[in-house]
Amino acid sequence: MTADLDAARTGGTDRPRFWSPGTQILWRYRGNGTDAVHICRPVTVVRDGPELLAVWLAPHTPCVRPVMEDGTPVHQEPLATRYTRPRRRAVEEWFGAGVLKLARPGEPWSVWLFWDVDWHFRSWYVNLEEPLRRWSGGVDSEDHFLDVSVHPDRTWHWRDEDEFAQAQADGLMPAEVAVRVRQAGQRAVERVATWGTPFRDGWQEWRPDPAWPVPELPADWDRPADRPGAA
Ligand code: MG
Repeated sequence: MTADLDAARTGGTDRPRFWSPGTQILWRYRGNGTDAVHICRPVTVVRDGPELLAVWLAPHTPCVRPVMEDGTPVHQEPLATRYTRPRRRAVEEWFGAGVLKLARPGEPWSVWLFWDVDWHFRSWYVNLEEPLRRWSGGVDSEDHFLDVSVHPDRTWHWRDEDEFAQAQADGLMPAEVAVRVRQAGQRAVERVATWGTPFRDGWQEWRPDPAWPVPELPADWDRPADRPGAA
């Protein structure tokens, strides 16, 4: 066993850190520059191992997301004040089709697959973020604003460059972090150019187990992350 895997064992016990398919965990994001969780999505584990964590965000899942103080969705708030006006956290059902999220340990992005409600595959979405930190109840990260859309014809484009710039202007992302994020984005784009994993892996054909219930949002969804690994 490698030191890395050894260190991944939980709490000095022999419990493996990986979650079984069907386990419900929380996929969370802390607010930028804060420890407070502002996005929490209860998801079902599809696959978990040393190479990949794959989870399913089912339609109608109750999720936590930030909204402006008056309830305005964040993306409808003008960019100039989007990151400076007060926000609160709201619980809302996940709208539309579900999302498959794929993350490789240590990688500073996760790849999300979007379908229409009739399972027509739409696109991949590369969400640049801190590498996922595992804890007993799920995984935590911090979003890095900049994203990449990847289409079935293998073309791609940057997304949310305006938010990326505004977040830097508003002091939510130091310049040196922004440089790292852009470099990570470039690496992700190179992965697209070579059609590497996960794009080549056929996940578009994947479908959720119909027996999986829609996860509930636990009352303590914003509890602090504790020991790494599976509960
Ligand atoms: Mg993002």
